[in-house]
Amino acid sequence: MSHHTFAVHCLDCGHVEPFQLKQTTCSNCGSNWREVHYDLALTREILEQNLHTRPFDLWRYRELLPIAEYIPYLSMGEGGTPLVHAKNLGMMLGCPTLYIKDERQGPTNSFKDRQAAVAIAAMKEAGITEAVLASTGNVAISYSAYAARAGIKLWAFLTSLVPLEKMREVAIYGTKVVKVTGTYDEAKRLAAEFARQRNLHLERGACSIPSVESMKTLAFEISEQLAHYYDAEPQEKPTASPILRWKAPDWYVQSVSGGIGPLGVLKGFSELYEMGLIDRVPSIACIQAEGCAPMVAAWKSNKAVADPILAPKTHITTLSTGDPGRTYTVLRERMLNLGGGAFESVSDEETFRMIHLLAKLEGLSTESAAAVAFAGVVKLFRQGVIKANEIVVVNCTGHTMPVENLVLGDGWSTDITAPRQELETKPQEGLYGALSNLAPEKIRKIVIIDDIEDARRLLRRILQSQGEFIIREADSGKAGIQMIKEDPPDLIILDLMMPEMDGFAVLNLLQEYPNLASIPVIVVTAKELTKDEQILLRGKVKALMHKGKFMSDDLADEILEAIN
Ligand SMILES: *Cc1c(COP(=O)(O)O)cnc(C)c1O
Ligand SMILES: [Zn+2]
Repeated sequence: MSHHTFAVHCLDCGHVEPFQLKQTTCSNCGSNWREVHYDLALTREILEQNLHTRPFDLWRYRELLPIAEYIPYLSMGEGGTPLVHAKNLGMMLGCPTLYIKDERQGPTNSFKDRQAAVAIAAMKEAGITEAVLASTGNVAISYSAYAARAGIKLWAFLTSLVPLEKMREVAIYGTKVVKVTGTYDEAKRLAAEFARQRNLHLERGACSIPSVESMKTLAFEISEQLAHYYDAEPQEKPTASPILRWKAPDWYVQSVSGGIGPLGVLKGFSELYEMGLIDRVPSIACIQAEGCAPMVAAWKSNKAVADPILAPKTHITTLSTGDPGRTYTVLRERMLNLGGGAFESVSDEETFRMIHLLAKLEGLSTESAAAVAFAGVVKLFRQGVIKANEIVVVNCTGHTMPVENLVLGDGWSTDITAPRQELETKPQEGLYGALSNLAPEKIRKIVIIDDIEDARRLLRRILQSQGEFIIREADSGKAGIQMIKEDPPDLIILDLMMPEMDGFAVLNLLQEYPNLASIPVIVVTAKELTKDEQILLRGKVKALMHKGKFMSDDLADEILEAIN
């Protein structure tokens, strides 16, 4: 017996009917576009009574998933990933409330584990024993793992652009790998044709109800976890019981390919809002790779339908959905109804630089598809679309974990060719490549003077990742002068706004000592300087950097110029 109530509603004709996985279209009008509605009042009651007894995984919210009975033996602890406070990156962007939902920590290291866990459970429940999907990599990996547990045979159509490491990962679970020389959209068409001919179940992406529903759990977890960071705040929703006192961010940011993630997450936040558990539905920011950004192009030209990109030109294969179809149209309409959101694109080069930055500043190693969202966040901060005082959650969607070449031996895939050209260009080394070559020959001594510990840590981290420096830190102007007198450094990085002796006073004092007056100084400041202040600094500093506006490469460039 079902422990909760839900029904499928057709987006086109409004027809309501029970949910059955095998019935993929509306029985009234034939539409593919349907969604599940729940009895939200009842669900709220159930959650209120039971939530505190349940482990922190996605089945915690099972009343809001289209599964009649939770199947414990399929579970690998999916969902329940940490929400990490990104202090260093936040400091760099001037935003103290930047959080990362670390989806790398799912069972197969991407947020597709949510989708696979729920979709495979739905297949199991519907008695399906063999299924077909097309994938840019991560869906195939994750579905393969869960299909193995469920005893479901899987066929994965992968474009030949998917990295071999990922293809082998799919194969190790026993999935039949079909390598398609062609685009992802072509692989999807071939998979659909194969499923039709063999009469097999096809994973239908954004038209698959369990897939979209699974992504809601991101919204649920984020709202529950964010509340822990803000426990001390006055209660915004005094009516909610303590276990259901949740908090929504101002922004949810994700790298986007087909758009199942944002579609589901938006639905999740909307359901929480309807249940009165959060006080607002956050704005959604969808970030795409520049060489395959059909949604961004359509959004920016105010079009409801996205023109397909026939030949994606990005090396970030995970995000190579050229034709988002109606997913974009539905997503756009919902975002506009809620008052906005953002679509933005970033280049492969910006993304590759971000991979290094995330690893070196936050200790997170990501695959490029995940880094796209972070490169997008930087862009949206710089454009002023996201504001420094807003609460921002970025989905860190995935991590590449390769299976070693030798483990599988030969013959683990079947190759077929669709009539289309492959991509020809190689990724550019770009800015980051240039940066890593900058490491100076000699070890140089640097003194950082800043009263804010977070700022000192960030500056130290940036310097450490750029070369072999001996770094000393002073937390006040006075301590800094002392440090400099004892052992004059090759460079001083100086904060202007400090209590007691501020940066201007430090500069003036240095001028009084002939051996110290010539040491180059880079000033880092949190505020815009007045004309008078700028005149005061003239001739005394090598460079002026604004906190919250600088990215590490700008600073590194200034440092190298100053000491060379
Ligand atoms: C699938 C995937 C995306 C894109 O997600 P959609 O919501 O399907 O557009 C982003 N990053 C990673 C790592 C992914 O696997
Ligand atoms: Zn219908």
